[in-house]
Amino acid sequence: MKKRRVFGGGEFLIADIDPEDIFTPEERTQEHQMIYQAALDFVKKEIQPDLDRMEEKDASHIRTLFEMAGELGLNSTDIPEAYGGEGMDKVSTSLVTEAIATATGASFAVAHGAHTGIGTLPIVYFGTEDQKQRYLEKLASGKWIAAYCLTEPNAGSDALNAQTTAVLSEDGTHYLLNGEKIFITNGAWADLFIVYAKVDGEKFTGFIVERTFPGVAHGAEEKKLGIKGSSTTPVVFKDCRVPVENVLFEVGQGHKIAFNVLNIGRYKLGASVVGGCKMALAEAAKYAAMREQFGKKIASFGMIKKKLADMCIRTYMAESMVYRMAAALEDLLNTKTPEERNDAALNARTIEEYAIECSIAKVFGSETLDFCVDELLQIHGGNGYTAEYPAERMYRDARINRIFEGTNEINRLVIAGTLFRRAMKGRLALPDAIQGVREQLKKGPSKTDSGVQASPLALQKRYLASSKQIFLLAAGIAADRLGMQLEKEQEVIELLADMVIMIYAVESGLLRARKILAKKGGAAGDYHAAAVKVYVNDTVAEIVSKAKQVVAFAEEKERLPRLLGAIDHLAGFQPIDTIPLRRFLADKVIKQKRYPF
Ligand SMILES: Cc1cc2nc3c(=O)[nH]c(=O)nc-3n(C[C@H](O)[C@H](O)[C@H](O)COP(=O)(O)OP(=O)(O)OC[C@H]3O[C@@H](n4cnc5c(N)ncnc54)[C@H](O)[C@@H]3O)c2cc1C
Repeated sequence: MKKRRVFGGGEFLIADIDPEDIFTPEERTQEHQMIYQAALDFVKKEIQPDLDRMEEKDASHIRTLFEMAGELGLNSTDIPEAYGGEGMDKVSTSLVTEAIATATGASFAVAHGAHTGIGTLPIVYFGTEDQKQRYLEKLASGKWIAAYCLTEPNAGSDALNAQTTAVLSEDGTHYLLNGEKIFITNGAWADLFIVYAKVDGEKFTGFIVERTFPGVAHGAEEKKLGIKGSSTTPVVFKDCRVPVENVLFEVGQGHKIAFNVLNIGRYKLGASVVGGCKMALAEAAKYAAMREQFGKKIASFGMIKKKLADMCIRTYMAESMVYRMAAALEDLLNTKTPEERNDAALNARTIEEYAIECSIAKVFGSETLDFCVDELLQIHGGNGYTAEYPAERMYRDARINRIFEGTNEINRLVIAGTLFRRAMKGRLALPDAIQGVREQLKKGPSKTDSGVQASPLALQKRYLASSKQIFLLAAGIAADRLGMQLEKEQEVIELLADMVIMIYAVESGLLRARKILAKKGGAAGDYHAAAVKVYVNDTVAEIVSKAKQVVAFAEEKERLPRLLGAIDHLAGFQPIDTIPLRRFLADKVIKQKRYPF
């Protein structure tokens, strides 16, 4: 098999990527399958049957669950074997994350995600040898639970505005931490807190704080809309003594830990919501196949089929991008030697590489889950609005995903901001690619359209290429016309980020479907191809519309008609009939009563 090429972050917008360059969910190994199944069995046996018990927030029950997960190796796919972990690849981590979220209640998934992700990974990637030895085995076993303390009353999205302080003692042996963190997942249960504080009120720094250190206390549980079985509390540090050995990485470098760990947290959130989407689809299909109105199963109605098909299609795109992303990060990490993997500064740079893709996975995934649970509830009619059916809880539980790990607004700023910053620094050849599109437009119609129907999905492949060109054209105009002002025109930033997100989704699904078609041919690939055809059809129209809005805002009036025409010309878009394709997919979902891929 051809080795996957390693691409830089954001490069997908300008590179021609082959199916062989990405990992697809169909390529899970036996080992992947085993860990996924272990996690799924755990959820089905220990979590799913008694979601109400979880919502009682009984600490001893939670501890038992974490320890059971530890025995199965589910807390430590990211922890190297040398420190008591499983040391698995990022695909395994994503599979465990997805499986744990494949329940009709997401509380444990959130608690587990905070523990294994943002709570544990700062030590894995930024800890000293001594810190790893002291803490990782305890976290892997589930005997210790971790939490991540970044947010404060005046530092939410603006996390660097933290007011928690750390002052070095006169004898230089410890820091005194003072401040309040809020909304901390696992706040009431955690044995270990990753805390960010400003040394001397200035240098943003990460600390490992044990629950038993003097001066740590958590406040009352928040009364929440959803994930009611997770703990969310303030955590207060009052003259809390933290030994200097517990400084993470370096004083003044806390932002590198905080934001890079969030990057990983974001793509893992993408994996988690895929589990939720699959569950929502399964519940929706089951109900639609059972409920009768007008003397017929509601699953036979076209509008219900459309809902099921769309839930399935969007889940397919989310799944495709998350596993592509997980393997890409693994490939990048594998270019480093074991010694280099212990280098915290290098780890920061490595993880930062895919900041754009991590934010995409988070935004696309959380919005797909919200779409799925909304349609799930609608398919249940009045029953969906009652606590008798799981739709109600799933609807409430899903909503948090658009808020934590950076709100979706902040993640959209990260996507566009990182792209432009890298272009300006010469890290991403965006300006050359923009110039290439301009020159192509000057030359007039391209002749590459011939033979578009030669292979299945060739048309979709062409639409992907033209979507990239349209994005480049719009981004180039926005950058040229608005200059430094672009940063302040958030509606434009949002439109550009949305285009980037859609392009990554289209490309991930398309490359996956092409891979299946190439390997297994028609019958196996038909459903993949149907999903991609519908999604591309709907998305290209949206990309065109968003690009036109950017250009209409940024460009001078006189040049507008020519540029709007150029966008249509680049797109060369002709809608296809998606109704039969949606019905084809919906029928499969209804027959199997689950996500069919
Ligand atoms: C259940 C739950 C669990 C959580 N778990 C944790 C945890 O374990 N650890 C932790 O540290 N934090 C945690 N959080 C906090 C969470 O990460 C923050 O709530 C989130 O980052 C948003 O911050 P905020 O609530 O202060 O909202 P704000 O920052 O006040 O934002 C309010 C609104 O303004 C928008 N906004 C803000 N800035 C901008 C901007 N520049 N441009 C455009 N729009 C903007 C936001 O997108 C949002 O829509 C949790 C929160 C909840 C509710």
